[in-house]
Amino acid sequence: MDNKVMNGLLTPKSVAIIGASATPGKIGHTVVKNLVESNYAGKIYPVNPKSDDILGLKCYHTVSEIPAQVDAAIITVPAKIVLDSIKECGEKGVKGAIIITSGFSEVGEKALEEELVKTAHSYGMRILGPNIVGVLSNSDKFNGSFAPFLPLKGSSSLVSQSGALLIGIDAATYLRGVGFDKLISIGNMSDVDFADTIEWLDMDEKTKCISLYIEGFKQGRKVIEAAQKAKKPIIGLKAGVSAHGAAAAASHTGSLAGASKIYDAAFKQAGIIWANDLNNLFDRTLALSLQPPMKGDNLLVLTNGGGVGVLATDAAEKYGVPLKFAPEDVQAELKKHMPEFGSAKNPVDLTGMAGTEWYSETVKYSIQHPWVDGLVVLYCETAMTNPLEIAQGIQKALQESGIKDKPVTVSYVGGEKSEEAMRWLVENGIPAYGAPDLAVNAIAALREFARNKENNHTEIAETGNFDKKAALAVIEKARQDGRSALTEMEAKQVFEAYQMPVTHSRVAKSEDEAVKLAKEIGYPLVMKIVSPQILHKSDAGGVKVNIKDEAAVRSAYQQILKNAKAYKADADIHGILVQEMAPMGTEVILGSVNDATFGPTVMFGLGGIFVEVLKDVTFRVAPFSKKQALEMMAEIKGAPILRGVRGEQPRDMDALADTICKYAHMVLDLADEISESDANPVLVYEQGKGLKVADARMLLKKK
Ligand code: ADP
Ligand code: MG
Repeated sequence: MDNKVMNGLLTPKSVAIIGASATPGKIGHTVVKNLVESNYAGKIYPVNPKSDDILGLKCYHTVSEIPAQVDAAIITVPAKIVLDSIKECGEKGVKGAIIITSGFSEVGEKALEEELVKTAHSYGMRILGPNIVGVLSNSDKFNGSFAPFLPLKGSSSLVSQSGALLIGIDAATYLRGVGFDKLISIGNMSDVDFADTIEWLDMDEKTKCISLYIEGFKQGRKVIEAAQKAKKPIIGLKAGVSAHGAAAAASHTGSLAGASKIYDAAFKQAGIIWANDLNNLFDRTLALSLQPPMKGDNLLVLTNGGGVGVLATDAAEKYGVPLKFAPEDVQAELKKHMPEFGSAKNPVDLTGMAGTEWYSETVKYSIQHPWVDGLVVLYCETAMTNPLEIAQGIQKALQESGIKDKPVTVSYVGGEKSEEAMRWLVENGIPAYGAPDLAVNAIAALREFARNKENNHTEIAETGNFDKKAALAVIEKARQDGRSALTEMEAKQVFEAYQMPVTHSRVAKSEDEAVKLAKEIGYPLVMKIVSPQILHKSDAGGVKVNIKDEAAVRSAYQQILKNAKAYKADADIHGILVQEMAPMGTEVILGSVNDATFGPTVMFGLGGIFVEVLKDVTFRVAPFSKKQALEMMAEIKGAPILRGVRGEQPRDMDALADTICKYAHMVLDLADEISESDANPVLVYEQGKGLKVADARMLLKKK
């Protein structure tokens, strides 16, 4: 990324407004007016062939007429002449174009949009948009947009894919008391995208927190990489989490891989903090922009009321920072600042008698104590206390404590006076919320931020000695047969090329051959139909397990053939698979999709009803570390089953994590070949005893 160019685009010292207009109400007029009214200190050059003067500013007939350097051009002319404007700007040496005009890829005009980018790049120019509101920056007093005014001042910057939402947020900042330094509308993201803005904002001195409103990334991996490198907290609100998953797919993974789950995984890997909704985006942004990360798990809650204390306790557990009792010495000290009936455990209940002094003393002591990593202060309005005074007491105590590297959030429950006190707190750098769970949720975001920085998600599991050639040979053969799916046997050969343990199997073309193979492999056995048209073998009565002798082999052979023909008369039957029967184990499923946004992505879950009914699965974008694989295993609801419940031995977690990593490596290595795959079930045994892939499926990409 060329920083000078990006600076020119997002914090220009001079702007041309192409399509500037003298007619009030036109966007080309509004933009000039906004620049003037925001007291922009840079040069403003309206451009319009038919005007000489707009709002008292000299209007140029062409860009080339402008007698000085132009950093950015804000383009508002109709879509069909935008390309000409870009060429003119390129010739002039403009660094970036903020294209407000719509009517490009969002209405199907993709080629025209691509042409804009190609042309801009040929001049070393970057494009923001098209189809955007513009750029607003408080620190540059720059309202290069058609949004009516600059947002409330703040130290976070927002990047929004939706223009209308950005305008709404702009106005809402005043009502909510949550400000921003910059609002950047990125619209169609034809060129500058989330990754570019994250990278740039991470270097922007005026931005402490990066907030994103996302409808969809274009290149998911690029965003993950940019976010991983960023030092500042990034919070994202993802819209449209319910849409995508509907498409029925041939494999489990396809139907389970709703957009939400993959974005969830990508956010985790990227270290992007999740916002649940718009309110949550505001609330968490406030905390992330005002307070330091919470570097440990010890959260202390101070309160003057039991009720809000309990609500905070519930929230703490829900948001991943469960409360622990404070150590004895902390309790003993805190006891001195409350009546006999107070509680010094955690939450620390100072009782309704708590006035400014008790709050100040306990806040100061707590934040200084090494055990405390973060502090939530709760207050319920009472008749005897003054909300604003208490707020001032809290702030003074924090200041006097000298502690700057531990976060504090506050919640007031009360009326007008409490509102006023909370506004005062926010203005003085302390995030304050109207409900205890919001204050806890906000501090949990600061804990997440610290955890993200501790976890190095860029680490990748070591790869083994894989035989890609062998895998490709199997795939090539299937392609030559004109097939888009591998048989179980073939899929397992690919798995084996990536060193995953599979159940040994052979294909029998006749009943006698099945008997012969059975002897070689040894009882007990499993027999299965081999047909490219029957992907879900059990559904066709195509699987027989626990076959113990020759008679059973013969009858299974006949039965499976009969069932398959009844199921699909024209199915192409390659034979019957004779397979080693693996001992009983815990059934888990591995799956992969080649996601349009993120590329090869791996799913993990427990098999059977856990996946079928409960959809208890989790995802990661490949590749990832073994630690991530272990994290996947720990984060599903059924995790205790792997750890061993009711006296059962724990499963072989290490072997499983290893296999998940190998699987991730396989789907990444074969990304050009595989569209979806799964291993269902994988049978996992006791610790030290490994696992076996009992069934495998693989769908090929169309070529
Ligand atoms: P499907 O195509 O229906 O998924 P599978 O090959 O998964 O067929 O077989 C169905 C079930 O049979 C599996 O879920 C598993 O419980 C059992 N099974 C299949 N193969 C084996 C094997 N080699 N050893 C033990 N159990 C097996
Ligand atoms: Mg199966």
